[in-house]
Amino acid sequence: MKKHNFSAGPSILPQEVFEKSAQAILDFNGSGLSILEISHRSKDFVAVMEDARALVLELMGLTGKGYQALFLSGGASLEFIRVPYNLLTEGGKAAYLDTGTWASAAIKEAKKFGSTEVVASSKDQNYNYIPKGYTIPADADYFHCTSNNTIFGTQMNEFPETDVPLVCDMSSDIFSREIDFSKFGIIYAGAQKNMGPAGTALIVIKEELLGKTGRSIPSLLDYKQHIDKESMYNTPAVFPVYASYLTLKWLKEQGGVTAIEAKNNAKAALLYGEIDRNPLFKGTAQTEDRSKMNVCFLLENEAHTEQFDKLWKAAGISGLAGHRSVGGYRASIYNAMPIESVQVLVDVMKELERTVAP
Ligand code: PLP
Repeated sequence: MKKHNFSAGPSILPQEVFEKSAQAILDFNGSGLSILEISHRSKDFVAVMEDARALVLELMGLTGKGYQALFLSGGASLEFIRVPYNLLTEGGKAAYLDTGTWASAAIKEAKKFGSTEVVASSKDQNYNYIPKGYTIPADADYFHCTSNNTIFGTQMNEFPETDVPLVCDMSSDIFSREIDFSKFGIIYAGAQKNMGPAGTALIVIKEELLGKTGRSIPSLLDYKQHIDKESMYNTPAVFPVYASYLTLKWLKEQGGVTAIEAKNNAKAALLYGEIDRNPLFKGTAQTEDRSKMNVCFLLENEAHTEQFDKLWKAAGISGLAGHRSVGGYRASIYNAMPIESVQVLVDVMKELERTVAP
């Protein structure tokens, strides 16, 4: 039986993507070759890369606006390094918002390059909220934020209005909601949450920002080189890029980001509604900053843990354990998660209430 996969990533993908990927592993486009063995320079794969890059810009409303999309290896974590390498000028400074483990990891790397100012942090409350009312220094080379904090279940509802180029790690909510993507200088995301299997990361760059640091950048870390080589400077992760492409096409067929956002809102409302209604549970993130992708919650009484765990496992649910730094539970309800699976979890929560009721 296929499980209801609430894992934070690698995570659920549309069934259609699994099926078409399986077909491509056996025979890619009727070529008599598997997607796992074709050359990245083959006509068919070059077309996939081109279409995928174009589709990213189309889904973000960025076509013809001076942006380039790249699929690079190294995961989102490599962008923690590539961003300062490409944007932080000699003697300049970068501004960062610290909203969790991944934001902190990005800050740690940027500090190795130069002056890095953390404009605000929610560490004081174990990252259960998004800081507000901070000031971004006008002379910063860029401002870096994390739109969705996968581990702590918080999400930015607003992005600052500033002339400083905005850089955003959207790894865990990319393509999940309408955002004015043209506000950003660089957007990046590891594929393995809302887009595809692990092994590639998507980077969307406003090209005019590049080439201003005065640094000599090693080729593999230089966005410009990757743009010039059309995301094929070195061998790309052929299969993860192909599967991501299938997800992007699925998203377009669903009606794009606007349509998926409505579905995501309904799923999040269903689950948070139950967390707030059911006296046995409580959410960990502050209400106004709750993530619609990663829903973190606790049992009010830990004595119910064994019973709850038994119930959700019996219902075919997988991947519900919270991250070790938060504990409790985390239900990741990415784009591909059907509302029916969220309902299964809600029914289990109701079942627990019935079982433990006096
Ligand atoms: N940023 C965020 C928000 C994440 O959730 C993750 C992984 O979970 C990362 C960065 C790191 O991604 P990667 O493992 O692709 O380097």
